[in-house]
Amino acid sequence: MSTLFPLMGNTMVILGITMLAIASIKVGDLLQRLPNRQLFRSWQFLRLLILLFILGYTGFSLMNWDSYLGWSHMLVPIVFFGGAIFVLLVCTLSLKTTKVVQQVYSLQKEAVTDPLMGIFNRRYLDRRMQEEVLTCRDNLSPLTLMMLDIDHFKKINDTYGHPVGDEVLKALGNLLVHHTRNADVVARYGGEEVAVLLPNTSGSEAKALAVRLHKEIAKLRVPLPEVDRTTRPPISFSVSIGVAGCNGGSADTIRLLTAADLALYQAKQNGRNRVECCPDLRLATATCAT
Ligand code: GH3
Ligand code: MG
Ligand code: MG
Repeated sequence: MSTLFPLMGNTMVILGITMLAIASIKVGDLLQRLPNRQLFRSWQFLRLLILLFILGYTGFSLMNWDSYLGWSHMLVPIVFFGGAIFVLLVCTLSLKTTKVVQQVYSLQKEAVTDPLMGIFNRRYLDRRMQEEVLTCRDNLSPLTLMMLDIDHFKKINDTYGHPVGDEVLKALGNLLVHHTRNADVVARYGGEEVAVLLPNTSGSEAKALAVRLHKEIAKLRVPLPEVDRTTRPPISFSVSIGVAGCNGGSADTIRLLTAADLALYQAKQNGRNRVECCPDLRLATATCAT
């Protein structure tokens, strides 16, 4: 009996220290996964507290080594042990929860992202169009849609090969995301055609943006693979853009899409490398910059 209590007391405090150390490692892992700075600081503070507890446990253990002589002396080691289990459980659960949330988030992101261009896919565009058209009807706010198509893209593929064509698509995706707002939806409509949905944006604002994007794309240079760089210059290309808009009660996804498509068709017909706004206003009942 005389050796049992010291052994139990020492072991409980040491196990407590070990569990706190493991909890601290788990918090370290969690810190790596946190994008939010405020949350990051709070967990850093918690980690500091755990380290202080480890110091406290160690000091207590050294001062009371082998001095646990009966149940009355076991209270502190038991509380230390229970506290460490609690801290470890909370940290383990928090880390697991963070991992699950991250997995769900990345699956959700994957489901709405085009893997090549890194922009939204058609499924997400369709959903957002429905939502934005309803908002447009309810709030009588303007909504515009831009359809953008690379000119003679087949020729780029034929000249440089499909992998280089893919690089051109990626570069276009990056540029469009960079030059639009977070609220705008940049989505691959199919092939080398991209849709940009602009909530709360009037026809004239959308046209100004289309002109700006058209200019930026003209300035874009896509580097060739290393082996070809010395013999050929980087690729430049142009796009044709169609813009259509709707405003208020008569907003409709099909009509908006058809109008933007018609405007794009008009841009192609008029010689490509240009911006055109919905040629048939009746289709989009609305604000259409000229
Ligand atoms: P236009 O100016 O009339 O738009 O001519 P275009 O050559 O751009 O249009 P067309 O429809 O004739 O050709 C589109 C090409 O885009 C054909 C297809 O192989 C290519 N394409 C579609 N998706 C991809 C892709 O993911 N990667 C690559 N590299 N090419 C693609
Ligand atoms: Mg094209
Ligand atoms: Mg096309």
